[in-house]
Amino acid sequence: MRPARALPSRPRVAIVGGNFAGLSAAQHLGREYAVTVFDRSATFEWLPGIHELLSGVKRPADLRLPRRRLVTRAGHRFIRAEVAKIDAAAGHLTTAAGRQFGFDLCVVAVGAMGETFGVRGADRYALPFRNVDDCTAIGRRLSTLARAPGKRSVVIVGGGLAGIEALGEILRRYRNREGLGITVVEAGASLVPGLTARLDAAVRARCEGHDVRILTRSAVTAVTRTRVRLRSGATVRSDLTLWTVGATAPALLNASGLADKPRQWAPVTRALRSKHFDNVFVIGDAAALPRRLDKQAYYALQMGASAAGNVKRALAGRALRDFRPSAKPMLVALGDLDTFLVSGRSVIASPSLAALKEAVFQVTMAEIDPPFNASALGQMTGRLRNAARQLAVPTIRRLVRTQRLG
Ligand SMILES: Cc1cc2nc3c(=O)[nH]c(=O)nc-3n(C[C@H](O)[C@H](O)[C@H](O)COP(=O)(O)OP(=O)(O)OC[C@H]3O[C@@H](n4cnc5c(N)ncnc54)[C@H](O)[C@@H]3O)c2cc1C
Repeated sequence: MRPARALPSRPRVAIVGGNFAGLSAAQHLGREYAVTVFDRSATFEWLPGIHELLSGVKRPADLRLPRRRLVTRAGHRFIRAEVAKIDAAAGHLTTAAGRQFGFDLCVVAVGAMGETFGVRGADRYALPFRNVDDCTAIGRRLSTLARAPGKRSVVIVGGGLAGIEALGEILRRYRNREGLGITVVEAGASLVPGLTARLDAAVRARCEGHDVRILTRSAVTAVTRTRVRLRSGATVRSDLTLWTVGATAPALLNASGLADKPRQWAPVTRALRSKHFDNVFVIGDAAALPRRLDKQAYYALQMGASAAGNVKRALAGRALRDFRPSAKPMLVALGDLDTFLVSGRSVIASPSLAALKEAVFQVTMAEIDPPFNASALGQMTGRLRNAARQLAVPTIRRLVRTQRLG
């Protein structure tokens, strides 16, 4: 890397991807750096909440924030563009439109892409579940399907966190609709493989009495317009198939020499610096750390802050610091039926934990977009008003009903 003295007065930092990790890095860098954030989309998206679009508890506007406002308020420049290649050796990146931008240091925070593992028909007939647009489209299809007469079947491919939360939202809104059945298909031996079996048992228990079938050890081999085929040869009828599994590395990582093969995450040191280029840091889902780390939004936020510190150290010619993730318990919602707090092998279940999950969302959104100006304040008020209408009021009504019954 070039010594700090050879740099222009304001070192140029390019951040590619401006969602959890990239935005956090930008917000932790001061105006003494000429920071440019590149992202293909105009809005920050709260991906951990997109399942709530299925029931209508959240509206797209609740989960989105205008990226330009967030970046410019931090004193930086936002460019809405797809980055096609990062040439770290030459110190510049090129957008899909062919524009070139130079940098002294680059922070890559491009996240993950959906993956259908080559399953026949999955790209064509199953609906992806990765962002606000995807889940808004699913919400519309569900609403139409729920109004149709006769027996209707929804298949959720994947019994991981996203699949469980999708199931919960469908049950929240449609569990009293006659004839609407839901099947969850999971390749692993239990729901949410990797987390404690107690969560599997708790979810199954809450689904009793509802038209829900859970098929574990059932890999999907093909999806058609009306069926989902399993490795056993059996098929499940489906009027609507949701694809909630699989994530792979964006092509940009391999195209830019940050990963050795296509679909591979970019290897980084413990200080989040690329193993291939000294002037690049890779953070968030896109990074492969020396020790495996779950791909979670709160780690992405922490990595952004850590990388910003190391950008400053690298530009000042100082030693880098290792990233030290601090684990948090996980909150998993099953619609309004229950919410689970998972920490290692222990699970606490209570519908009232939904309020804690909502508080985490509200507080983090307010930290990302502090209500210091009229538009941010207006958006925060809208989010709170909608949360009160959709979540608090039904919860209070349920409590009142429960007390009366008791
Ligand atoms: C359905 C679902 C549910 C989830 N639930 C939870 C949860 O409950 N709790 C939790 O902690 N985490 C959850 N996660 C994971 C969490 O969302 C991710 O870990 C987090 O988004 C990673 O942040 P990131 O900044 O690395 O990537 P992302 O948030 O994916 O952001 C990547 C950004 O890079 C941009 N980008 C990508 N390529 C380019 C390019 N070539 N040019 C320009 N811009 C580009 C994208 O537009 C995007 O804005 C969930 C994820 C999904 C999909």
